[in-house]
Amino acid sequence: MAKNIQAIRGMHDLLPDRIGLWQRLEDGARQVLESYGYSEIRTPLVEVTELFKRSIGEVTDIVEKEMYSFPDRNGDSLSLRPEGTASCVRAAIENGLLDQPRRLWYRGPMFRHERPQKGRYRQFHQIGVEVFGLEGPDIDQEVLFLTHRIWRTLGLDGLRLEINSLGEGEERAAYRAELVSYLRAYAEDLDEDSLRRLETNPLRVLDSKNPDLGAIIAGAPVILDHLGEASRLHFEHFCAGLAAAGIPYQVNPRLVRGLDYYNRTVFEWITDDLGAQGTVCAGGRYDGLVAQLGGRPTPAVGFAMGLERLVSLLEARLVAGEATADPNTLDAYLVAVGPAAQGAAPALGERLRDAAPGLRLQCHCGGGSFKSQFKKADRSGARYALVLGEGELERGVLGVKPLREEGEQRDLSYDELGPFLLAGRR
Ligand code: ATP
Ligand code: MG
Repeated sequence: MAKNIQAIRGMHDLLPDRIGLWQRLEDGARQVLESYGYSEIRTPLVEVTELFKRSIGEVTDIVEKEMYSFPDRNGDSLSLRPEGTASCVRAAIENGLLDQPRRLWYRGPMFRHERPQKGRYRQFHQIGVEVFGLEGPDIDQEVLFLTHRIWRTLGLDGLRLEINSLGEGEERAAYRAELVSYLRAYAEDLDEDSLRRLETNPLRVLDSKNPDLGAIIAGAPVILDHLGEASRLHFEHFCAGLAAAGIPYQVNPRLVRGLDYYNRTVFEWITDDLGAQGTVCAGGRYDGLVAQLGGRPTPAVGFAMGLERLVSLLEARLVAGEATADPNTLDAYLVAVGPAAQGAAPALGERLRDAAPGLRLQCHCGGGSFKSQFKKADRSGARYALVLGEGELERGVLGVKPLREEGEQRDLSYDELGPFLLAGRR
């Protein structure tokens, strides 16, 4: 027998037994996004590598070691997208979307060559938002309210919000100098990654996941002490808006993001229920990026949430019995016994679907005895079996037998069936 071919490490099939969770998450998020007037945008999965180098930054984990890059047949370097913001900015510039404020959202797979572990994959999925052309703290608040409403819609509680401000270019430059001289004093204790970052991108040292550096990082100077008047006011308004809306938050002065393009507001939603990979949503303001990619200077703010981690949280709730059942159960499964009934069943199925739009009906295919068909009806998860034998065919009815509760089989006419099945839904 031929050798089985397996999926690539860190890239997973999303199978039918869990797809209900994914759909609930995606549908819930989409509903909230639409209710705030955000429009969906879909961009290609592949872009020129240069786009990510110029936006995410050359000395970030993503660009240094996580991108799936390859030469196109004509020699251009292309990359699978590791995140969505760069593509959205490119698309907005290229398609002239920046003439007025835009509120966009996207969803889909992202690709990063990381070490696979729980909550960290090489193909993973995000839903994200990018808002262009608005610079005030009011829109920063709005995108946060939106995330908060998504959690509430999904019934996810126990998420913590951490926020910080990274200030503006000059403020960060002054801070960076102070941070570097502080960290240099500990050069002997820093790990290799941090030593390198100290030269290339010192703020990223604060983002180190190495627990041995915890005490050094905790003692480091903080950016919030270096904010100018305008950045400070922006941050204060942002915080006040969260408080007014009743959203608890914690200022984490060491929160920096793994991508270079952020300024001012940054935030993360974190859960303690998933172990080390606890950030489920992260974002902030990136006022410089549009111009950096060749567009007219345009303020921007956005976030991305990691769907695998959110699905894990939803699933844990399901186990705890707090979530509702899989939304994709069949209303009915049609079994047909005897040649005449089997010949008539497919067309009858279409007639029932015409009469009751939205009806979830599966028609048995492949023949077999009544007993074996009925077993399949039961296993399908359908609420009712519809039985078509020679007798039912002659009388112009279907036998309707409940599968999820006690109850006798009874006859219903074709016209009665649709309304009956739809009305009985949970
Ligand atoms: P981390 O610090 O965990 O590496 P990040 O800063 O690289 O996160 P972002 O680029 O901000 O993450 O992505 C936003 C969200 O997408 C993360 O908070 C996380 O929920 C999710 N995410 C990022 N990388 C992965 C991955 N490899 N596998 C699964 N989810 C991911
Ligand atoms: Mg990362």
